[in-house]
Amino acid sequence: MDPSHQQIYLDYNATSPLSLAVADRLPELASRFFANPSSPHPLGRGTRKMIEQATTDLSRFLHVAPNQIIYTSGATESIQTVISSFLSPDTPSRSIALPRTEHPAVLSAARMFEPGGAVLHWIKVGPDGLVELDHLKELLRQRPDLVSFCAANNETGVLAPVQQICTLCHDAGVPVHVDATQWVGRLPWPQMPDGNGPDFVSFSGHKFGALKGCGALIVSPRMTLNPLIPGGGQQYGARGGTLNTTGIVSMGLVAASLIENPYPADTVRNVRDTMEEQLLEKIPEAVIHARTAPRLPNTSSVAIPGRDAEEMVHQLARQGISISTGSACSTGKLSPSHVLLAMGVPTDLIRSTIRISLGPLSSSMEVDCLLKAL
Ligand code: PLP
Repeated sequence: MDPSHQQIYLDYNATSPLSLAVADRLPELASRFFANPSSPHPLGRGTRKMIEQATTDLSRFLHVAPNQIIYTSGATESIQTVISSFLSPDTPSRSIALPRTEHPAVLSAARMFEPGGAVLHWIKVGPDGLVELDHLKELLRQRPDLVSFCAANNETGVLAPVQQICTLCHDAGVPVHVDATQWVGRLPWPQMPDGNGPDFVSFSGHKFGALKGCGALIVSPRMTLNPLIPGGGQQYGARGGTLNTTGIVSMGLVAASLIENPYPADTVRNVRDTMEEQLLEKIPEAVIHARTAPRLPNTSSVAIPGRDAEEMVHQLARQGISISTGSACSTGKLSPSHVLLAMGVPTDLIRSTIRISLGPLSSSMEVDCLLKAL
């Protein structure tokens, strides 16, 4: 953010600004690669080649085979595709295990099938926001048809032990969907031993510097899906509709640039940790949620007792500082955060909670301005 415009953006978990790797190429992409990638003519072939390159870059970035990547309009669609495939009334599989701390994109996808008979098993989370693995093991004995969990929570930044959960589920013969929307682009996606990674992974481009309206679903080779949008049979019949060339290429460009110059996780973590220490010095009664759990390097969920979060967000906005009360989707909603409720945080503390989420270039100077304003 350019401080000369007196705008300080600390809401990266809601969305990221466009990466320079994309911004520099956008005019060329929009003007030269407009043809339908399914068309047989040279212009169509040119667009197809751009998409193939993006797929190669994304597959290197995420350690998956190119044909495992299904492009979608974003994480919400990817998630809906997986959950519908397991819970819709025309499938024999009708049960899912998931924590209550999931993003609304997951919760609402699962809940919409409840009235039709789908069974939702809730996996307990501890006060630190981590899934209780013993409870998951107990639930796995009931053989749910799918386990779905978030790799990195959008409100608290809490990181799930992805590999460990996948192993537990696979040992019980249960497939796993991972919502990696906040993880991809910030932490390296782990290279999982063959057959031991998640069966499905969802994410969105805009969270890591690509365009909005594009995302992907990674599908393991041992799985098949019922397409949510069969359309014209594009993408091996897994997702119909003309491919969003600019969106897909934007994800490929960011992936290629992150392979060259990885996200500066240590620097971001340092700025975040210093901010939290200084905040606790200035406001000793402040509470940092899930501070002891493994967290995304950029996220801080902070309660300032006695202060109203919505009011703080508005006052800071008036001073040119953008933060959030939690999930961007629930901003403006008066109901307290379901994530913090599931962690057992008292309602009055939830109403005093703000979410600060830094970007790769967020500086100590910007954070100082925030602390001063708070
Ligand atoms: N999952 C998580 C963890 C998120 O943070 C979000 C967006 O905030 C989504 C899913 C939905 O992403 P999108 O709105 O890009 O589809």
